[in-house]
Amino acid sequence: MMNMDFKRRLPIPMEVKEMYPLSGKMGEDVEKRLAELKAIFSGRSEKLALIIGPCSADNEDSVMDYITRLAPVQEKVKDKILIVPRIYTNKPRTTGDGYKGLVHQPDPTAQPDLFKGIIATRELHMRAVRETGFACADEMLYPENHKYLDDLLGYVAVGARSVEDQQHRLTASAADCPVGMKNPTSGDLTVMMNGIMAAQHQHDFIYRGWEGHSYGNPYAHAILRGYVNRQGVTHPNYHYETLVYLTELYAKWGLQNPALVVDCNHANSGKNPFEQPRILMEVLHSCRHSPEVKRLVRGFMVESYIEDGCQAVGGGVYGKSITDPCLGWEKSERLIYDMAEQL
Ligand code: PEP
Ligand code: MN
Repeated sequence: MMNMDFKRRLPIPMEVKEMYPLSGKMGEDVEKRLAELKAIFSGRSEKLALIIGPCSADNEDSVMDYITRLAPVQEKVKDKILIVPRIYTNKPRTTGDGYKGLVHQPDPTAQPDLFKGIIATRELHMRAVRETGFACADEMLYPENHKYLDDLLGYVAVGARSVEDQQHRLTASAADCPVGMKNPTSGDLTVMMNGIMAAQHQHDFIYRGWEGHSYGNPYAHAILRGYVNRQGVTHPNYHYETLVYLTELYAKWGLQNPALVVDCNHANSGKNPFEQPRILMEVLHSCRHSPEVKRLVRGFMVESYIEDGCQAVGGGVYGKSITDPCLGWEKSERLIYDMAEQL
């Protein structure tokens, strides 16, 4: 017997999609963004992807406010940068405790409500597409939940704590959008390369009560997010030497579409969000120095919100992160224009 209450049966993805269907226009917008992203991650497009937004999508109003501000900026830089807003609805907690994201707690200050959370998550991703035309990014923290959003997402990341997990890798192999596999918190790049290889290959596996066959995801690629050493001290891995090493690893592994997204926050910034513009510019400098590195780097990830920094859950400041500290709006807007100018 399990030590668990089975509280209620939840609607399956097909039922939720019937309740909250995409209009034809929304489907077309997602397809268009997805096609552009696939062109970027296969090297057919010279543009760079910029996955940018709050660490966690804690509040519908402020997240939509933020994404709405991105829309005119995207228009101005569209020849060089494809913006993918982060709508991160699942948070991996280092100890398992604390705010777990919109899926668990649609109201971060109230008790978990997973039924409401599943609906709130789909509604928020739908609102972003409907009101701005953006297909957004989310983290695949619970692989079974991917199918609630698979018709809406432009990009998925497999997080540092999940990248060694079989179900994540196999689900990534079934996803239709580019999936970034992060280096694990320990920094072992072999674990990440194993994850990319698994995601690019075909698999038979159990998914949501089905025996399924996945066809492999040629757009699965690397995300470098820095790492933590044995003493718990953060170390960056966005420097030139690591980028060159990754080009060599890709060549050795013989994977399809070698590609990298540099995560400018997390252990790369030591969670100092104000380092992110410098890190992004430094990587662009490395790209100018080496054609191989330039071909490898296909995008960046930036944690950004309306207000600088972070606050405690229930802190009450509108547009301020309740998980990792973020770069505020003015600095983020400046960063996007500065990045475009460098390209
Ligand atoms: C994140 O992107 O907010 C995140 C949790 O990343 P990581 O898996 O790298 O810690
Ligand atoms: Mn984060």
